[in-house]
Amino acid sequence: MRAEGIETNRRILCVFPRYTSSFGTFEHAYPLTDGVQAFMPPQGLLLIAAYLPENWQVRFVDENIRPASQDDFEWAEAVFVSGMHIQRQQMNDICRRAHAFDLAVAIGGPSVSACPDYYPSFDYLHVGELGDATDELIRRLAQDPSRPEQQVVLKTGDRVAMSDFPIPRYELADVPKYLLGSIQYSSGCPYQCEFCDIPGLYGRNPRLKTPQQIIAELDRLRECGMKDTVYFVDDNFIGNRKATLDLLPHLIEWQKRTGYVVRLACEATLNIAKRPEILEKMREAQFVTVFCGIETPDPDALKAMHKDHNMMVPILEGIQTINSYGMEVVSGIIMGLDTDKPGTADALLNFVDESRIPLLTINLLQALPKTPLWDRLEREGRLNEDDGRDSNVEFLLPYDQVVNSWKRCMELAYQPEKLFARYEYQCEYTHAQRVKVPVAPEMKTWPNIRRGLIMLRNIFWQVGVLGDYRAVFWKFALRRLRRGDIEGLIGSTMIAHHLIKFARAASGGQQNASNYSIRLREASVPAE
Ligand code: SF4
Repeated sequence: MRAEGIETNRRILCVFPRYTSSFGTFEHAYPLTDGVQAFMPPQGLLLIAAYLPENWQVRFVDENIRPASQDDFEWAEAVFVSGMHIQRQQMNDICRRAHAFDLAVAIGGPSVSACPDYYPSFDYLHVGELGDATDELIRRLAQDPSRPEQQVVLKTGDRVAMSDFPIPRYELADVPKYLLGSIQYSSGCPYQCEFCDIPGLYGRNPRLKTPQQIIAELDRLRECGMKDTVYFVDDNFIGNRKATLDLLPHLIEWQKRTGYVVRLACEATLNIAKRPEILEKMREAQFVTVFCGIETPDPDALKAMHKDHNMMVPILEGIQTINSYGMEVVSGIIMGLDTDKPGTADALLNFVDESRIPLLTINLLQALPKTPLWDRLEREGRLNEDDGRDSNVEFLLPYDQVVNSWKRCMELAYQPEKLFARYEYQCEYTHAQRVKVPVAPEMKTWPNIRRGLIMLRNIFWQVGVLGDYRAVFWKFALRRLRRGDIEGLIGSTMIAHHLIKFARAASGGQQNASNYSIRLREASVPAE
């Protein structure tokens, strides 16, 4: 569905801001690939681009790939920006640059929807999801694209049903330059974890696209050059279990039709381990990774943050179950909780060893606006907005003790020997549980083989020759090569390399301790 009834032509420049370096952006892996430059195509901006009137021209720039140029700004009549809190500084910078060309700038997405006051310079604030605010923004720009005299705030009251969403305009993005493809089936989550802003922003009753929309999007992503893994960015892939079960047979059919070229990944609550009927179909559909917000192995802490659903199965057993369906678990971990004790770091490191999860995003607690945690800490006078801190939470334990525990966990969890041992387990045990699928003709083509060779060359040179952990790498690599497991070798090493480099920077104090930290850092590469 598109906005309709607009006769005027407009030229809209959609700019996606750079990410601040984080666990989950994998930028240290990019030099090992065949030209990846960014993480995932941004769903929100590409969706808005698809919703604009058909006769409007759209240019899309992801500043993780290249900065918006003078030519882009001179071409445009208005600029759209979207992003998360962590991109706040970069979004304000895009606004400043667009204003230098006297362009009206509109901002939408999760950050402005939660905190409109972070963006005082923008001309239009689009608060909420695609809906009547979007129609009003389009109507105003159609009438007059120049900058309004004062900021206009448009709030969505009536949302467009997700089943009416158009296919995001993936063709505007340079899809092969992304590490992962992105797709969204549902929005919202039925739970209410204390620190999470998803239920507040998107509701507790997940809204859905149809399976047919998802298949059409997957086809479009493939046409646009997506080769490896497509990530379901849904807040909780099993937020509506019936809908998940409705979708999975379509994904299985799609994989059969397209030759199992693409792997799938998603985010889901750990209680997915209690749903063998879902896990079995996910295995058939080639899901290879599930991100679970485990947050902490401490049952008291889970109870305190209202994440009791993580305890529906003993945590280690749940991870083992997911692994037994061929899926690696990626885990979110939070430190700095009120329930943390002096022994929390050691307990966490034990958990890392026992769970054999290679990738855990270990962050310090950050209070996000519009969450129950924010409200509680505000009441208790424990919010601290000092920009020099790694978290806006006044912890119960001394701040330095918490930050040092985090640094220690980062250092020890990502020692190359330990990390590659965890990957070894995943390659030997978890990957072996995957459905054996025929090698698609597409995989045997020269461009695909060439791609693999380029990645192997990069890995062997940059890690195997130049890397300071090359002995550990070769031990792992030779075992993979002996088993003919090139996919395990490339996939594991790429991510391990990022984690090792990121963790070293983090434990040395050069990275934020929270993915969500609003500590305003200088972006590493200037946008101009
Ligand atoms: S389960 Fe995940 S998405 Fe849902 S409220 Fe908790 S943290 Fe947020």
